[in-house]
Amino acid sequence: MNEKNVIGRELEGILHKPKRQLAMVFDLNKCLGCHTCAISCKRQWTREEGMEQQWWAVVNTQPGLGTPKNWESLGGGWDAKGEPRSSRIPTRDEFGDAWQFNKDEVFHGGKGKVTYLKPVTTQGEAPDWGPNWDEDEGGGEYPNSHFFYLPRICNHCTHPACLEACPRGAIYKRAEDGIVLINDKQCKGFRFCMEACPYKRIYYNHVRDVGQKCIFCFPRVEKGVAPACARQCQGRLRFVGYLDDENGPIHKLVHQWRVALPLHQEHGTQPNVYYVPPLSPPSVDINGRVDPSRPRIPTEYLEGLFGPRVREVLTLLEAEKAKKNQGQPSELMDLLIVYKWPNDIFPDFLRDPAEL
Ligand code: SF4
Repeated sequence: MNEKNVIGRELEGILHKPKRQLAMVFDLNKCLGCHTCAISCKRQWTREEGMEQQWWAVVNTQPGLGTPKNWESLGGGWDAKGEPRSSRIPTRDEFGDAWQFNKDEVFHGGKGKVTYLKPVTTQGEAPDWGPNWDEDEGGGEYPNSHFFYLPRICNHCTHPACLEACPRGAIYKRAEDGIVLINDKQCKGFRFCMEACPYKRIYYNHVRDVGQKCIFCFPRVEKGVAPACARQCQGRLRFVGYLDDENGPIHKLVHQWRVALPLHQEHGTQPNVYYVPPLSPPSVDINGRVDPSRPRIPTEYLEGLFGPRVREVLTLLEAEKAKKNQGQPSELMDLLIVYKWPNDIFPDFLRDPAEL
């Protein structure tokens, strides 16, 4: 990086440094893959024309190719020297089209007994990919097959590649809470942001010719209401709060207990969504003999997602779980269980959305 770039990058860092940072922690041990988060986000924000294929909050099955297809191999973000890594814009097909169904034929055409619901793409073709095409397939060999769910939203990164890639200056990080937003009056639909984001969490609205993505439900947050995905989450696994609030669950899980880890931190964008990695049962052989030294989900696979501290975190989680099982106190387990909802999970955003 030349001197001008270094100074420019430092200036950008100062300009984009928010006073506080809102963040989320997802406890993967509690996600049941019900997609209530995805549907609540969809109903709230992405129902307009041009947004049909947009899912700002998705829940992917791991191991799997995810949304968009094979997103982990598409590049983007920053390399070890802080230079942008090459990437490309995912296609609409890779995200997965919004399907139509032959409901009239099945429900009202008198053919209900001889036909069945068949999805077609907007081009009228049979789909060969969708936002959750490989749901529940997972990985591993019998009898050690395994999978877990990975909810994903925009990470509202501290060093957002999308923001720096935009030649229009349309993307900004809010000073008050670090939420990353796209100003759609400034956006001209160039899609450099879609290319640069290593998490591929920006969609293109082909009707309005703009990029669109998760807005951390800022209109709700400003009124003291939790983001829709977190409020509606059936597993109560989405913690929301400020990273610097030492009494809040986010600070405790990320900085005090250090059990919440960013996804693919090697991309260098410094995500503000963190994950408590999933525990798994031990492997068994074909005769059912248990091998306690080998967890069913290979630790190396989890390290590929959440980095080198995974092993240490899983050991701590197991130890605290064992304490709780033996009737001893465990502050960490109590925190993760969320005995008092919503106070324990998003204490700054308790207001009921029905009041709005
Ligand atoms: Fe930008 Fe992608 Fe980071 Fe969201 S996850 S702030 S879209 S780089």
